[in-house]
Amino acid sequence: MSRASIIWAGVIMVLGQCLPLAAEAKPKVLASIKPLALIAQEVTGDKAQVDTLLPVTASPHDYPLKMSDHRRLHDADLVLWVGPQLESFLGRSLANIPPAKIVTTYDLPHLFWPQAVETDGHQHANHQHTGGDPHLWLDPRNAQVIARVLATKLAAIDPQSAKDYQTNAERFVAKAEQLDQQLSRQLAPVKMQGFAVYHEGYSHFVGRYGLHQIGYVTYAPERRPGARHLKELQGILKQEGKCLFVEPYYQVESIKTMAKSIGLKIGVLDPIGDQQVSSYQLLLEKLGQSFLTCLADVANN
Ligand SMILES: [Zn+2]
Repeated sequence: MSRASIIWAGVIMVLGQCLPLAAEAKPKVLASIKPLALIAQEVTGDKAQVDTLLPVTASPHDYPLKMSDHRRLHDADLVLWVGPQLESFLGRSLANIPPAKIVTTYDLPHLFWPQAVETDGHQHANHQHTGGDPHLWLDPRNAQVIARVLATKLAAIDPQSAKDYQTNAERFVAKAEQLDQQLSRQLAPVKMQGFAVYHEGYSHFVGRYGLHQIGYVTYAPERRPGARHLKELQGILKQEGKCLFVEPYYQVESIKTMAKSIGLKIGVLDPIGDQQVSSYQLLLEKLGQSFLTCLADVANN
């Protein structure tokens, strides 16, 4: 390519960004976190470009937005996030974006919400949820709700591919239903095994599959647990706990030491998915596998 044509290509690219969606251009979907991007990917196939705002190593609970992130939010044709209950750092920048371009999944109708998970009475009084657990993608039925809404939204932005979005969404719904049944079957044998999670972010999964969560180390991952809470947790775990789950980016040594001292196995749960997790299905299968491995092995002892 000659120098002049490179410059022209640049000029055309800049112009292109100012124009409404051209016939050739793919809609840009920007998801706040990876699980939502994975669902969006299923709906768009190759008809739209899906990106994730947060790097996988970042906590969705607390992330400092960069200038370039603001630009990406502005450039997107559709922004997909959970809501201020999870990505509180996004609220202010999204206020400058037309509401029609935003899908706030937390507010979608027909979502499934778990019953409050009973931990010990003490924690419960302190951590009464005003809403539900925002990690709502951990119930495959909610992923189906999100996929269908996305198909409708995308069809409005890009009518040419409306059929594809619809077909893709329905294909995903069928897969998610299968996944849901598969997880129910797989996890049934470990339902009675008590465990604690690192942060209180799994109630959608735990509730859906009837698992026996008896506590959590901390309510939100950034918060360090208090000594009194840990002591109480240790007490219940000692009685009926088999396993304690940490998270890939929060592996607090003192917690592991505590767990080992009372004979618990240690597992790892990743609600977001690392680089290797390339589909929504894999994300949930991996999560199910983590529960199964940690709880089942102990059950056989
Ligand atoms: Zn969380």
